Amino acid sequence: MPLGCVIKVHIAYARPFWRDQGFTGLVLSDLTEFGPLFHHSPRDASHGGLVGFFDGGPAQRWADRPASERRAKVLQDIAAYFGDTARTPVDYLEEVWTRAPLHRGGYVSVSGPGVMTAFGPALRDPVGRIYWAGTETAEAWVGYIDGAIRSGERAARDLSALT
Ligand SMILES: Cc1cc2nc3c(=O)[nH]c(=O)nc-3n(C[C@H](O)[C@H](O)[C@H](O)COP(=O)(O)OP(=O)(O)OC[C@H]3O[C@@H](n4cnc5c(N)ncnc54)[C@H](O)[C@@H]3O)c2cc1C
Repeated sequence: MPLGCVIKVHIAYARPFWRDQGFTGLVLSDLTEFGPLFHHSPRDASHGGLVGFFDGGPAQRWADRPASERRAKVLQDIAAYFGDTARTPVDYLEEVWTRAPLHRGGYVSVSGPGVMTAFGPALRDPVGRIYWAGTETAEAWVGYIDGAIRSGERAARDLSALT
């Protein structure tokens, strides 16, 4: 189950200008290569924050392009939803996870076709006295910190039931 192919981008604006148009900043769409988009502006709206991703195929297509082209594409795609103000951020930060030497992907692992149907139960089944935890074994939020914590609690519960 290798890690997925994702590029994560933070884009900061002077203010959450999309709210003027009645938008929250959340975008789930297949109209652009860059997306989904989420907002994380502070409550007092002292600046506008968006975070978004190139996922899967678009990440593969954009990972090896020059950073300046990627940035132009990101801003162009955000402008498609929120207008031209999106083209003038005050800050921009990106991480091409597939090129990060220590983890080489993100942010969750991906099982290929047939892997879960054939081997899914093996993720959680104990082997003798060995009990498995880890986000891939979670019953909810697989691949996330939340799943990692849930899986640890489940393994601890299963083990304490033995005694
Ligand atoms: C780039 C990236 C971004 C992410 N962003 C988010 C996010 O925004 N929100 C979110 O919820 N989740 C995010 N995740 C996912 C989240 O980090 C993982 O789901 C979580 O860390 C999994 O926890 P874990 O305890 O299952 O495994 P891990 O955190 O991978 O811990 C496993 C540990 O076991 C150690 N280990 C491995 N093999 C051995 C061995 N043989 N002997 C001893 N130790 C060993 C490893 O070194 C590691 O420390 C992201 C992941 C990545 C890679």
